[in-house]
Amino acid sequence: GNFADLGLNEWIIQHLGNLGFNKPTPIQYNCIPPILQGKDCFGCSKTGSGKTAAFALPVLQKLSEDPYGIFCLVLTPTRELAYQISEQFTLIGKPINIRTSVIVGGMDIIQQAYELQKKPHIVIATPGRLADLLRSNENNVKLNKIQFLVLDEADRLLDKLDGDFTNDLNLIFSSLPKERQTLLFSATLTDTLNEVKELSTKSPFFWQS
Ligand code: AMP
Repeated sequence: GNFADLGLNEWIIQHLGNLGFNKPTPIQYNCIPPILQGKDCFGCSKTGSGKTAAFALPVLQKLSEDPYGIFCLVLTPTRELAYQISEQFTLIGKPINIRTSVIVGGMDIIQQAYELQKKPHIVIATPGRLADLLRSNENNVKLNKIQFLVLDEADRLLDKLDGDFTNDLNLIFSSLPKERQTLLFSATLTDTLNEVKELSTKSPFFWQS
């Protein structure tokens, strides 16, 4: 199959050609259509399988049709992953002038609060820092317009589960609108994933490589 079979808009297909993305990887081929149809999606696949684009492409397409407020929140376990995901969104979203914001520990929290007030389209965060920003309500950080929640490397995110981390995630989840799409990607299927199954209120499309 190719990208044109998946329901993606012409601007994305053309731009992908320029980037040298000539054929969808299996996770992209299988997960992009249900995500575009509005389904939740749980995908299980290794790093390097193209999973970032598997969620970035449909999110960017939906964003190009209806931009309003912070559109998508991606939670990921490490700073490096957060920056890599941001780079891919910026690259693929260049034709629609995508604005991303990386919210991770070790960086200036005041600056991050200021960035969030300017309502970037895509926020890529590690849970601890985002939860800190939500806790101090003087920052006026609002996640109430989010249409997509992505849990990237969900197995690693949840492996870190201890008291604080659970609190952070629960605070974040409770700040999000109930009406949204939830996309979860993981290298392995672990028992911990059962804990987040309830995050999806719809029955998710499930794909495993
Ligand atoms: P990921 O698995 O998301 O970390 O992606 C691995 C790398 O593959 C990234 O550098 C992507 O830019 C690249 N990539 C993703 N999808 C495709 C594709 N369909 N064709 C060519 N390269 C791709």
